[in-house]
Amino acid sequence: MKKIIILMGVPGSGKGTQARKLVQKFGFAHISTGDLLRALDADPNGDKEDKTKLAEMKAGRLVADDLIYKLAFAEIKKNLDIGKSVILDGAIRTVEQAKKYEEFFVSLNLGHEIIVIEIKLSDETSYNRLTKRKVCPACGFILPFSKENDLKIDCPECGEKLIVRKDDNPETIEKRIREQGNIAIEPILDYYREKGELFTVDGEEDIDNVDEEVVKLLL
Ligand SMILES: [Zn+2]
Repeated sequence: MKKIIILMGVPGSGKGTQARKLVQKFGFAHISTGDLLRALDADPNGDKEDKTKLAEMKAGRLVADDLIYKLAFAEIKKNLDIGKSVILDGAIRTVEQAKKYEEFFVSLNLGHEIIVIEIKLSDETSYNRLTKRKVCPACGFILPFSKENDLKIDCPECGEKLIVRKDDNPETIEKRIREQGNIAIEPILDYYREKGELFTVDGEEDIDNVDEEVVKLLL
């Protein structure tokens, strides 16, 4: 099995859900840049310079890509060093970022250990799913659009009441699809395709089928 798994897909493709499943199944370390930034924010002993950059970022004065790379790369290396494979979803939004991560993996001699899996979904399905999904405010569980979504069910992981996320409204979703939809991610997929690292599964299928296809690619 490869050591570095990168999941790609438009919003609503279920890459977060698949990442969680893989973490449960294989014990991968899930690298979330959002979590890393929140941890730095909450850590009173965090590096001073990093915290200053983060504050500037939060104030919207700076997009500190270098800070994000630093945190993500340290976390990735820490996990690889203890023999864990790492899984990334949503961390790579531009070709430039894809190249930075690739350089980092190559510097660790792990250029041949990368597999990129695209969970392919049309922008239309993306829109339909995002307007109809529910999330758990406590543990982050996402209940994708399905018939069960019409029922008032609680979080299957922690029992909290599920909610519709505030930013899951039509305007925000349209904006997200413009920024992270198929047209936006195509150049990144091309980059990985040229390297021979890209594999695709059909994200229009239901979650368990997608999971099965993803696992097949990994084994
Ligand atoms: Zn929950």
